[in-house]
Amino acid sequence: MPLLDLNLIRQRYNYACGYCAVTEVSSGGLLTVDHYQPLASGGGDDLENLVYACMRCNQYKHRFWPTADDELHGFRVLHPLRDVLCVHYQLNKQTGRLEPLTVIGNFHIQLLHLNRPQLVRKRLAEHIQEAQTERLQFLEQQIVELERTIAAQENYLALLRELIE
Ligand SMILES: [Zn+2]
Repeated sequence: MPLLDLNLIRQRYNYACGYCAVTEVSSGGLLTVDHYQPLASGGGDDLENLVYACMRCNQYKHRFWPTADDELHGFRVLHPLRDVLCVHYQLNKQTGRLEPLTVIGNFHIQLLHLNRPQLVRKRLAEHIQEAQTERLQFLEQQIVELERTIAAQENYLALLRELIE
């Protein structure tokens, strides 16, 4: 694949796996390019058909492409940019697991193993980090307010001293 195309795909997917959201930074290198509709099933090399994907998701998806019967039962993989993912599954921040909301979402999660233990741990770690960042911002705000109170009290004390002298 030409470098320019690869960079375009990386950018399009924000340097992260379109399926599981693992980033280049957390995986320590470039990810792979998945043919959403496999070449063997008639898919092409056009940008719309190329999904930036980590090696694991790419392996689990492999050459899956739904038959007409599969489609009928909702057995298909969601397209990271074309499907509205939040309709099909949601993240449970407490457990770190993706929970299906539709039959398609359930199939998608199962096929790509999107609740593999490492991903669950990653999501939990991210949730803890988010909570800690929020807590830090709250504490920083409190410090600002306390500094304001101290300044006000100091002014008041200065006034009192002037009255006494
Ligand atoms: Zn992935």
